[in-house]
Order: sequence, then C-alpha cells, then structure tokens
Amino acid sequence: MRSVTVLGATGSIGVSTLDVIARHPDRFRVYALSAHRQIDRLFDQCLTHRPVVAVVGDAVAAAQLEGRLRAAGCSSEVAYGAAALDEIASADQVDTVMAAIVGAAGLRSAVAAARAGKQILLANKESLVMAGRVFLDACRAGGASILPIDSEHNAVFQCLPAAGASPVESRGVRRILLTASGGPFRLATLEAIEAATPDQACAHPKWSMGRKISVDSATMMNKGLELIEAHYLFDVPDAALEVVVHPQSIVHSLVEYVDGSVLAQLGNPDMRTPIAHALGFPERIASGVSPLDLARVGRLDFEAPDPVRFPCLHLAREALRAGGGAPCVLNAANEVSVSAFLDEQIRFSDIARVNDSVLSALGAQAAGAEVDHVLEIDQRARAMARECSRGLLR
Ligand code: NAD
Ligand code: MG
Repeated sequence: MRSVTVLGATGSIGVSTLDVIARHPDRFRVYALSAHRQIDRLFDQCLTHRPVVAVVGDAVAAAQLEGRLRAAGCSSEVAYGAAALDEIASADQVDTVMAAIVGAAGLRSAVAAARAGKQILLANKESLVMAGRVFLDACRAGGASILPIDSEHNAVFQCLPAAGASPVESRGVRRILLTASGGPFRLATLEAIEAATPDQACAHPKWSMGRKISVDSATMMNKGLELIEAHYLFDVPDAALEVVVHPQSIVHSLVEYVDGSVLAQLGNPDMRTPIAHALGFPERIASGVSPLDLARVGRLDFEAPDPVRFPCLHLAREALRAGGGAPCVLNAANEVSVSAFLDEQIRFSDIARVNDSVLSALGAQAAGAEVDHVLEIDQRARAMARECSRGLLR
C-alpha cells in the first residue's frame, strides 16, 4: 500500500489524481491533502478520502475547515501555512508526493519532498524552471526520484531508453520533440490575439486546466517552460529540444534516436493517463481514460510554431540558452504578467512585453545556489514585473 500526499489537491491535477487513486483502494491511501482557498472542495475531499492531515493557507480557513470536519464526524487533523506543507511533503509515513501546487508557491514543498527522499510526481513545472539545479541536487542528496506528470514529459519518459546513469545522448537519443496543441489562438490573427480576453485565453480547445497554465498555453509560454523543464529532467541541451504544434493533442511527445527511429506516446488528452502511469510505475494501472479511437480522430497534423504571434516561446529559449538565473527571472515575470492579465489590468500581448523587459533587465545573473537565493531572484523579478505591468495599465 502506497501512502500519498497530494499538494494542490483541489486543482485540476489534484482532482484528477484523486480520481485515479479512488479507482485503486487496494494500492493507495491518502496521507495528506492541501488546498489554498477552495475549502468547500477540500472538505468534500476529506470526507471521501479521510486523510490523516489536511493543510490550508491560513488560520481562519483552518479553523473553519476543522469545525466542519468535526461536525461531519471526520477526524482529519487540520494544519496551515508553508511549514505544514513541508511537513506533509516530507513526513515519514509518506512514500509518494504529488506536487500539483501552481507556480512558485509549490517550490518549497517540492524541495522538502526531494530532501526527504520521496517519490515525487512532478506536475509543478515552475519549481524545476526556477530552481532546476537546486531541486535536482536536493533529489540526489535525499535519494528522491522524479516521475514527470506534465503530459509531454511523461510521454518522453515513456519513450526514452530505460533509466541509466549516462546522459540520454550517449544512449542513442538524437532529439526530443515536445508537442504543443497551439492553444486557443493557434489560428487567430495578431490583432485578435492583442485584444483577447481572459475567458477566451482560458478556453483551451483540448485540455481542461487551471487558469494560469491555460493562459500559458495561449501565449505558448507553457511550451517554453516545458523546454526548460525537459532540459533539467532529461539532461539534454537546448539544441536537442524541439517544439512541434500538433492541434489534435493525441501524440503527447516524441523521442528521435540516431538510427532514425522516432518513438511517440499517444492517447486521449486526459491527464489521468500520465498520473496513473506515474502512480503505478513501474506497473500499469487503470486510469478511467477512454480508449483512443484513431479512426474517429481521423488525422494527426503537425506544424512549426509561429514565432511572431507567440513570442513567449522564443523568450523561454533565450532564457534556457542564457542559463543561470534567467529561467527563474522569466518564470517570475510570467507569473506576475499572467496574473495582471487575468485581473484585466494588462492586455494579452502585454504578457510577452513584460516578460521580455524583465528578462532583458535581470536575466544575466547567476542561478540561485540554494532555495532562499532562488526565492530572492524570484522576488526581485516579480517586483520589476509589477512595475512594468503598472506602466502598461489599461
Ligand atoms: P489549479 O489552479 O487548477 O490548481 C492549483 C492548486 O494549487 C490548487 O489546489 C490550489 O489550492 C493550490 N494553490 C494555489 N496557490 C497556492 C499557494 N499560494 N499556496 C499553496 N497552494 C496553492 O492548477 P493546475 O492546472 O492543477 O496546475 C497545477 C500544476 O500542474 C501547475 O504547475 C501546472 O503547470 C501543472 N500542470 C497542469 C496540467 C493540467 O492539465 N492542469 C498539465 C500539466 C502541468
Ligand atoms: Mg504539458
């Protein structure tokens, strides 16, 4: 029986994770769940999954949740704040940690799981983008392993040769191709993109996701963050990473070998597949995802990404090439600009403007050598991004 903590249980990935877990009561038990603000949903999840601990953002929410749980006869302990997140990510009773908090807010708890040697199911790509080396070093020091949840990286993981100590290049891998759906604005004109509203940006044609990653998909910054994520996860250089737009979202990514073979992982676009793959690994377990009907899909299209309409993808490439603190700076700027866009303070196309300005100004600095240093770089970039966003106020 594996004991699982789900960080970010109330989000899109968290809900899908609990859906898969509920299909296998013989394999998994939930040790802890966390949520930031969605207390109603967390309350329901506690009644269903009976975690030992539930963690929320602050004392007021904790008192409210605790009162409701006791009244409903549920004995889950309730805690709050960052230290409590670290605690449920690293507790001795836990084997597996699903890291599904969105954004930089997920870094500390993911690193806590790494130091404690957990099996980390990594959905929170931002932590790897911000703190790649620091995070990987923490995994090594703690004896933790990472299984990628991002569908592209999970696909690559499935197509790579069996894990080994040597870099993937020396095991015959030539290139990794990440597929991108192209998002809701794949066919939109530059003018339409300029005027896009938050609801339009969040209406993803293939995936149902949280609002931040939905906007990232619309700008294609998501694919940019995924290039950086792939660089760290698979230890491949920028030159061996490519992006191809594939609007059907059936091929989740591909690995090309030196002999010309290209292996791909296919499936319906449903995050329960990579989640079940990682939860069951190395065994295969049912996910609830419907079988792929290729005749119904009909065709699989591929095209090159358009750098003019989607400048964020190029910014991420620049940050990857620059290395050092650049990915952390870009990630922080992007979290601020996306949030300003969702609050209707700046326009959609301003996201790339803010990201570009902040990356140009602060990108050339060394990487943070430890978590606190990474967070300092993150804070500095956020401050500047807020300033830039204010300059663009609508
Ligand atoms: P979401 O917005 O639906 O959920 C986010 C979760 O994080 C919620 O449980 C929320 O309570 C929690 N949270 C938010 N702010 C927090 C804070 N300050 N402190 C603590 N907890 C906080 O997001 P999502 O779509 O589930 O994405 C989660 C992560 O998974 C992101 O890093 C995203 O990039 C990644 N991811 C998501 C998908 C997807 O299909 N949704 C696919 C690939 C990768
Ligand atoms: Mg992805």
